[in-house]
Amino acid sequence: MKNSAENFDFVVAQCQKAAKNSGRAPDQINLVAVTKTFQSDDIEPVLEKGHRFFGENRVQEAAKKWPELKQKYSNIELHLIGPLQSNKAGEAVALFDVIETIDRDKIAVVIAKEIKKQGKTPDLFVQINTGEETQKAGIAPAEAASFITRCQQEYGLKISGLMCIPPFDENPGPHFALLAKLAREAGLKNLSMGMSGDFETAIQMGATHIRVGSAIFGSR
Ligand SMILES: *Cc1c(COP(=O)(O)O)cnc(C)c1O
Repeated sequence: MKNSAENFDFVVAQCQKAAKNSGRAPDQINLVAVTKTFQSDDIEPVLEKGHRFFGENRVQEAAKKWPELKQKYSNIELHLIGPLQSNKAGEAVALFDVIETIDRDKIAVVIAKEIKKQGKTPDLFVQINTGEETQKAGIAPAEAASFITRCQQEYGLKISGLMCIPPFDENPGPHFALLAKLAREAGLKNLSMGMSGDFETAIQMGATHIRVGSAIFGSR
């Protein structure tokens, strides 16, 4: 068995254990296997295991490998988890089933336009910059409620949840708690939070989607 398949089994087992320890049903947690920088050789063993949720952070890179994989394996749900430029919005709506990184009005507007034009219905998450880091994308926590309302009422977007990437050098727990609180206040049920190093904490704090790359595919 290829390493990625073995690692995948291990991560699934850890998820189930974390869910159980938190009194949650394992099927409430969607493991999004993050395949950026990896090629089909590494990805296919995980697809062969029957897994169908994957994430990429760049539209261009995803466009090189996923159309072929989507044809070969049915029912793949591909998540965009990286920042989106407005000139790539059309391609993103065409390729991705879930866009987790709605992070400014300009993107919300072009995504709404593409959704209408293409007749597609990707699931949408708003990215929140919980650490208020200047170099990081996302809506500031204080702006979250008004931005979500604008997305829903002005741009006609159906927002299904929130996503965050906590600051690299901080305890992620308070960031996950903040994201959960903002989602609760906005009446959104999905929470994309937790990566290889902290997905167990994220599950404990209510994550519905965890994004795990290196723990499955190795270091990049
Ligand atoms: C790369 C990436 C991940 C996965 O990170 P790992 O630490 O490799 O699990 C998760 N979320 C986002 C937004 C990423 O870009």
